Amino acid sequence: MPTPVPTPVHDVVIVGGGPAGSSCAYWLADAGWDVVVVEKKHFPRVKTCGDGLTPRAVRQLADMGLEDALAGSHKYGGLRAYGFGQSLEMQWPEHPNFPNYGYTITRHDLDGLVAERAVKAGATLLPGTEVVAPLIDEAGSTLPHLKGVTIRENAAGGGRGASGGGKDRELLARYVVVADGANSRVGRMLGTNRRRDLPLGMALRGYYTSDRHDDPFIESHLDIRDAEGNVVPGYGWIFPMGDGRVNVGVGLLSTDRRWKGVNTSHLMDAFVNWAPESWGLSPATSLGPPTGGKLPMGLSVGPRAGANVLLAGDAAGTINPFNGEGIAYGYETGRLAAAALGHALSGEGPRALADYDRQIEAAYGPYYKVARAFVRMISNPQAMKLCVGVGMRSEFIMSELLRIMANLMRPDAPGPAEIGFRAMELISRLLPDEVAALEAASAGASGSG
Ligand SMILES: Cc1cc2nc3c(=O)[nH]c(=O)nc-3n(C[C@H](O)[C@H](O)[C@H](O)COP(=O)(O)OP(=O)(O)OC[C@H]3O[C@@H](n4cnc5c(N)ncnc54)[C@H](O)[C@@H]3O)c2cc1C
Repeated sequence: MPTPVPTPVHDVVIVGGGPAGSSCAYWLADAGWDVVVVEKKHFPRVKTCGDGLTPRAVRQLADMGLEDALAGSHKYGGLRAYGFGQSLEMQWPEHPNFPNYGYTITRHDLDGLVAERAVKAGATLLPGTEVVAPLIDEAGSTLPHLKGVTIRENAAGGGRGASGGGKDRELLARYVVVADGANSRVGRMLGTNRRRDLPLGMALRGYYTSDRHDDPFIESHLDIRDAEGNVVPGYGWIFPMGDGRVNVGVGLLSTDRRWKGVNTSHLMDAFVNWAPESWGLSPATSLGPPTGGKLPMGLSVGPRAGANVLLAGDAAGTINPFNGEGIAYGYETGRLAAAALGHALSGEGPRALADYDRQIEAAYGPYYKVARAFVRMISNPQAMKLCVGVGMRSEFIMSELLRIMANLMRPDAPGPAEIGFRAMELISRLLPDEVAALEAASAGASGSG
């Protein structure tokens, strides 16, 4: 009888090959570890997004050796903000750690590039394969201890309802990273939860053809109006793609007490009507119906670490509440997870995973606390009008605010943004999230009554 071949035990299995999963795989493979990424779709694949890369995201891509690969994408220099009748153009700031430019690139093109880079560095990618369940070894104090995951090859290589094509099989690993995005089915199977008292975003985007497709600024609209000129809850964006198209979207935050009653498709229609005519947005230039998704933000999902499991990216709620940016934080948290796993695999064991949790808290905790307090404040229409009205009169104030909101403050040269942020931090310390959430809820209850 032939001797049975033992099932290999990989160093790390990663669930999901988006920004968080692929960056984690790249950094692990680059350090020489045996890492497998399980991705339910085949690259290139469509992913609903605004397609905007800020200087933070560009820095991470450059560190992975991918900046040259962005050469054909649209490079832009800053943000144009519109609000209450004013508009301002702000360049990305000079910063010792980040470039002063960003790119727009579809996720269709971007995500495959990073996954391919991880494979070049030595990672194994299993495309068109879904993790259908975690293989739980034993319960843990935060998350269960896993021996790996159960995977299934998708019949048509991805898409809802496509699973069930292949036979289930076990993929064994010493450590597992959950990077399966905003809905994080696998995370929830392990017992993760999103804190409902913290903000959640919801956004919708569509593509339009536009003569201004190569505009040097991405554009953000802080107030959007309906056909009668009334302010509607939410914000809008127009991101030039440089390929004949613009990415147009609207977003809404759960901290806005009008959130529940909003139909996002109507919000999108209102924005398309309201947007400056020069963009040429209309049903005739639309390239198809918009699609949307959730934005778990402000470190609202946890636990993030167990004895041999880590969560990264949207699965851990790492989107920046200030600006809805999640790609850079996917890359960064994937990289932090890889570093922690490197220590764990080198002999430190589970202690290194607890360090990951602490590092995430140290890197983003205080900043996101301020961001959460800020978005709660501006979700009040009067406060929003006051802030935007004052800010939009001064390019200086808005440029400093941009540095805060894009997380581009300088530890080496404290200026107005850093001082302003410290003040915001002190105020947010006096107002714990729970109190703010209760206040918002009771304001909502009295407002609607
Ligand atoms: C409308 C909208 C606009 C946005 N605009 C921007 C923007 O302009 N800039 C920005 O920085 N951020 C933006 N974001 C946020 C950004 O898209 C996310 O933060 C980012 O994609 C998070 O990366 P991730 O790797 O954590 O998750 P994802 O990108 O969602 O990747 C998860 C991957 O896991 C795979 N997967 C899921 N489940 C399984 C499973 N069981 N088995 C195997 N594979 C699985 C998925 O197919 C996917 O490829 C936007 C979000 C939305 C909804």
